[in-house]
Amino acid sequence: MKTTAAVLRTAGAELSLEDVEIENPRPTEVLVRLVSSGVCHTDLGVIATATAEQVPVVLGHEGAGVVEAVGDDVRGVEPGDHVVLTYNFCGSCDNCRNEVMVHCRDFVPLNLTGARLDGSSPLSRNGEKIFGHFFGQSSFSRRVIATEQNVVKVDRSLPLHLLGPLGCGVQTGAGAVLNTLDPEPGSSIAVFAAGSVGLSAVMAAAAVGCSPIIVVDPQQQRRDLARELGATHVINPDETDPVTAIHEITGTGARCSVECLGLPTIVRQALECLQSPGMCASVGFQGMTNELTIDQGHLLFGRTLVGVIEGDSVPAKFIPRMIELYQQGRFPFDKLITTLPFEQINEAIDAAHHGKLVKAVLTFES
Ligand SMILES: [Zn+2]
Ligand SMILES: [Zn+2]
Repeated sequence: MKTTAAVLRTAGAELSLEDVEIENPRPTEVLVRLVSSGVCHTDLGVIATATAEQVPVVLGHEGAGVVEAVGDDVRGVEPGDHVVLTYNFCGSCDNCRNEVMVHCRDFVPLNLTGARLDGSSPLSRNGEKIFGHFFGQSSFSRRVIATEQNVVKVDRSLPLHLLGPLGCGVQTGAGAVLNTLDPEPGSSIAVFAAGSVGLSAVMAAAAVGCSPIIVVDPQQQRRDLARELGATHVINPDETDPVTAIHEITGTGARCSVECLGLPTIVRQALECLQSPGMCASVGFQGMTNELTIDQGHLLFGRTLVGVIEGDSVPAKFIPRMIELYQQGRFPFDKLITTLPFEQINEAIDAAHHGKLVKAVLTFES
């Protein structure tokens, strides 16, 4: 079967829309016709840094769409089902069996190589292999091969053109709060950087009754949006030292914090703004090696610094939980989203790269 995919052929280049061949689903795989796909910072990172061995590749990992065909062994979904695509996992290792699939023993090969575990790819063009299984989906494509593991069935009445980001960016921020930090109502929380991940953390914090909710971001527009989504206080770090300000607002320091950049100075601030005890969830990504210095004397007094991938989410449970909060009007993640047609993917990537919009979502039905 043919489909149209946005192919990265060299690092830093624009993506080219190409007609490619897509395989039929293997026994545990699912063919999905996409309705939308978010653009996530991990996609931008690979576009900027891809090596010759990683291309040609179709990126994208926040797809949502309709199942068109399933492999012989698939039981969880059937053609016609509406699904949100998320990160991939094996389902059988010790961590997957214990519902810690964010730390699947095969997380890296299953999500970051763009190939299946056996090295093969569902996409090709005139016999040329194109890596087409990024995060088990490669969602910058009209049709994708996903797996039974990484699709989550959702109600057909839901707006599929909005749901893609629930599979990565939104679940990363919301899950850091709801799954990892799990604060009591009334807990103080500080969120560093109000992009789509940080603002998802803010909405989740508001949904569970955190107070105060303090957001640190240099952009006025994002601080304003943070207030609209539940922040009680906002800080411009270019004008005010966030650690001092958070201690003044809370009296004791924040009960918990989320940092979304991964920059060493920001991680340190997110740790130093905490009371005792307190917990900082670090979700920002700045490469596989990213050293920082922290004050062990400060950490010693009951403070925790924890790294969080994909919001510690069990997707089959957490994606429905976010949808339920959305339907109750307590998690308005649609306010983060700007939709653009798939054909404008390079404009969407450029706008995301320059922070001109919070969350770009490509739509496939034009
Ligand atoms: Zn696993
Ligand atoms: Zn992502």
